[in-house]
Amino acid sequence: MPDIPFWNKCNNKCVMCTNLPDFARQPGANYGLKGQIGKLERYLKGLGPVYLKNAGRAEFVSLTGGEPTIHPEFFKLLSYFRKRLPGLPITLLSNGRRFAARGFAEKFSSLARPPFSVAIALHGPSARLHDAVAGVKGSFAQTVAGLKNLLSIPGAPGVEVRLVLHGKNAAALDRTLKFLLKTFPDTSAYGVTVIHYELEGMSLANHGGLALRLRASAAKLGSCLPLIRRFAGLRLYHFPLCLVRKELRPLCWVTLPPEDRIYPPGKCGHCALKKNCLGLMLEYYRMFGDSELKPVKK
Ligand code: SF4
Repeated sequence: MPDIPFWNKCNNKCVMCTNLPDFARQPGANYGLKGQIGKLERYLKGLGPVYLKNAGRAEFVSLTGGEPTIHPEFFKLLSYFRKRLPGLPITLLSNGRRFAARGFAEKFSSLARPPFSVAIALHGPSARLHDAVAGVKGSFAQTVAGLKNLLSIPGAPGVEVRLVLHGKNAAALDRTLKFLLKTFPDTSAYGVTVIHYELEGMSLANHGGLALRLRASAAKLGSCLPLIRRFAGLRLYHFPLCLVRKELRPLCWVTLPPEDRIYPPGKCGHCALKKNCLGLMLEYYRMFGDSELKPVKK
């Protein structure tokens, strides 16, 4: 199943959000309970294109936003989707702030029956950095409290911490990983995904302060290898294999649909790694070209 925008408003203002403000300005009624149920039922009956992003992926569903958890009828909608998609893995993408309220986290955990996971974005190791990226003072404290709640509730959905790297926070990756190891030392209890940011929405509008080349973020990853090894489950998204250290290549996943990426023929055409490689994000290629790629001889 594709990505489903659950709600179009957000309580953060992240500098690298892939949405533009126009999305949040749409009437909330477009994403209300009745409309969402109608869309899901049309989709399940195969009545034309309903959801646009990742339309070809049938093996899971991602509930996105905006911030899904601030939907005015979040729990009703969550229950409906769980009931109508039995057995299908659902991932909720969230800034995690609402889970800072213990009662909210507990109710969510009782409704989000498996297979279900929550992916929560953390922007840095401190309130100073995280709040600057999220655009809301106090968001770091709530996100961390939300993570603590979810990780302490028996039977709560699986938790994935997402670290989206860009020019404002990539240099702090080592400190962010150390923060996670110190705050949540049982790394078998959650996953971590490190993602090179996408050039879309606000990340393009704010690009002056955000720009980060893949070569630079891959080098930072390489310098963090001893820390990365301490996590039981860590994944890397959006990295071409030739830019990351050999030891990190098994952690790289191909997650973007084919239409969002490219294998520049002059570089990837004869590369031995192509079969398991993402190539380049298409928008990245359009902005920066392919000069960083270093094909590996067969
Ligand atoms: S040259 Fe292309 S196919 Fe080879 S590792 Fe780099 S991006 Fe991947």
